[in-house]
Amino acid sequence: MADKGSALDVDRRTPGRITFGARAMEEHTATVCPGCGLRISRRAGPREPEAGASAECLSLKDELSFYTLSRGDAFFIHQLLVDAYAAQHATADSKPITTAFALIGLYLFVERGFSGKNVQRAHVRLAKRRRRWPRFQSPESRGALTVADVLRARSEDARDQAIKQWARSVWAAWNKKRVQIASLADLLG
Ligand SMILES: [Zn+2]
Repeated sequence: MADKGSALDVDRRTPGRITFGARAMEEHTATVCPGCGLRISRRAGPREPEAGASAECLSLKDELSFYTLSRGDAFFIHQLLVDAYAAQHATADSKPITTAFALIGLYLFVERGFSGKNVQRAHVRLAKRRRRWPRFQSPESRGALTVADVLRARSEDARDQAIKQWARSVWAAWNKKRVQIASLADLLG
C-alpha cells in the first residue's frame, strides 16, 4: 500500500488551499487547473500541463491512480477515477470517444448502479457497437469536488467513498447532457 499520507498538506487557515509542504510554501505562484479549477502552489514535477489540466492536478491524479490500481478491489474503483477525471478535464480537443465513454461510465455508475468493473465491461461492448461518437461541449462548472478532495480522505473506505462522491458531482455538473448520454448507453441493449 502506498503512503496514504501523500504529499498533500492542507493549509487549515486558508480552507481550500493546498500546498506540497514547506518547499512549495516558499513559492507564492499558484496554478489553477483549467478543468476542475483546483488552485494549488506550483511545484516541479514529472508532468507537463495539458490543455484540460494543470501539471499539478495531473500529478495528483497519478498519485490517486497509484492507489486505485493497487487497491485490488472487486468493485474496481479505478474505473470511476478514470471517468470522473476525463469528464472533468475534457476540452473541445479531447477525443470524442474519451469524453463520451467517461460520461457513459458516470451515468451507468450514478444512475444505474453499475460497479466500476461493470462499467469497464460496458465500455468494451460499446466500442464494438459503434465507431463514431458525438463531441460534447463541456459545461462551465465541472463539479464541486476535485482529485485533491479525494486525496484528503486517508482510510481506504473513506477514499473509495470520496471517489464515488467525486464521480457523482462530476455527473451532476454534466446534467444537461443526461438524455443524450442515456440514449448512447442504451446501445448496450
Ligand atoms: Zn484538475
